[in-house]
Amino acid sequence: MSFSFDVTHRLETSPGRAGVIHTPHGSIETPAFIVVGTKASVKAVLPEAVRDLGAQAVLANAYHLYLQPGSDLIDEAGGLGRFMNWPMPTFTDSGGFQVMSLGAGFKKVLAMDTAGLQNDDVIAEGKTRMAHVDEDGVTFKSHLDGDRHRFTPEVSMRIQHELGADIMFAFDELTTLMNTRGYQESSVERTHRWAARCLGAHAELTRQRADKPYQALFGVIQGAQYEDLRRRAARGLAELEVDGQRFDGFGLGGALEKENLGTIVGWMVDELPEDRPRHLLGISEPDDFFAAVEMGVDTFDCVNPSRVARNAAIYTADGRYNVNTARHRRSFIPLEDGCDCYTCLHYTRAYLHHLFKAKEMLASTLATIHNERFTVRLVDNIRAALVSGDFHAYRDEFLGRFYSA
Ligand SMILES: [Zn+2]
Repeated sequence: MSFSFDVTHRLETSPGRAGVIHTPHGSIETPAFIVVGTKASVKAVLPEAVRDLGAQAVLANAYHLYLQPGSDLIDEAGGLGRFMNWPMPTFTDSGGFQVMSLGAGFKKVLAMDTAGLQNDDVIAEGKTRMAHVDEDGVTFKSHLDGDRHRFTPEVSMRIQHELGADIMFAFDELTTLMNTRGYQESSVERTHRWAARCLGAHAELTRQRADKPYQALFGVIQGAQYEDLRRRAARGLAELEVDGQRFDGFGLGGALEKENLGTIVGWMVDELPEDRPRHLLGISEPDDFFAAVEMGVDTFDCVNPSRVARNAAIYTADGRYNVNTARHRRSFIPLEDGCDCYTCLHYTRAYLHHLFKAKEMLASTLATIHNERFTVRLVDNIRAALVSGDFHAYRDEFLGRFYSA
C-alpha cells in the first residue's frame, strides 16, 4: 500500500502536529494548504506556476468533472493528474457538497456566521430546488443543462476511482447550521450508512483496478455545532471497517460556527486515531488556519483565495485590500511588500489596477498567483513555527498584524 502518514512533530499543549502524507504521486508536508482546481484547472494559472508558488497538491471536484468532460474520459486519459499535467498529489471531493448545495440553495455553508435561525425549510421541497435527498442517494439537475442525474455512495466512488486522485472523500450528506437538531441527527446517521457503502464500493473498485496506484479514502464527519453528534460521527467513522477496508483519513466537514471552530475541531480530533490525516474542508481565513492547526488539522482546501483574486481582492500580512480602488492607480510598489511570489517580484499595484480596469485576463492570473502564494506560504510558515516550537508566538504576531487594520 503506497499511502501512509507520519507524524513528525507535536504541540505540547494541544493536539496540533506536523507530519508527512505519502501518496503514489509524492509527499505532502503537513500542515498544508491544498490549492483548488475545481474543473481540473486552477483558474487562470498554468500548472507550472501553481507548482512554483509552492502548492504541494491540487483538489478537483468530482461533481463538475463527472458532468464535464465525464470521469470515464479522464480515466481514459490516464487519470486526473496526467489529464491536467499535474504530476504531484491530487485530491477529489465526493460531489456531495455541490450536489447538496443545489438543494439548499446556499453558496457558502462552511464556517458561516449564524443568525441563530433554525429551520429545515431551507432545504425543504421548493420550486427552485435542484436536488432531492433520499435514503439511497441524491437526485439532482445539472447546473449546465438541467438534465437529471443521480449520485449515490457507489456512484461517487466509481466516479472518484475513474478520476484517479490520490485522496478521495466519502459521499456525505451536507447540512447547514439552519437545519434543526433533529435533522442533523438523522443526517449524521445517514452519512454513517453512506460511509459504510463507500468503504464497500471502494474495496471492490480497488480490487477491480489493482493495476492502478492505490487511492486513499477519507471519511467525512458531520454533526454541525453539536458536541455529541460530532463525537459520535467521528467515533463511528474511525471504527468503521467494511470488507477489510478502513478510512485512510478523515474530512472534517459540514457547517461549522466560525467562532467555535477550534472547539468543534477538537471534539472530532479527540475521537480520531493519531495515525490518520485530517482534512478541514473549505477553510482559508488566517484565524481559522491557526485555530484548526492548533487542534490537529493537517490539510485544508478552499476556493476563496483564487475566487476573491479574480475580484481584485489581495491578501497581505497587513490584511486584505482591493487593488481596484483609486488609491492604487499610481502605486508603483508590489501587491505585498516583501512577498516572494512571481507577481510581486515583477509587477506593481498600479499595473494590476490597470489590468483590472481594462478587464485584461492577465489580471486574474497575476492576482491569483499572489493570493495562492500568500495562502500556501502562510500554512507553510505555521508548519515551520510548529516544528521549531514557536507556534503560539507566530500565531499572536501574525493575527495581531493581519487583523489590526
Ligand atoms: Zn505576491
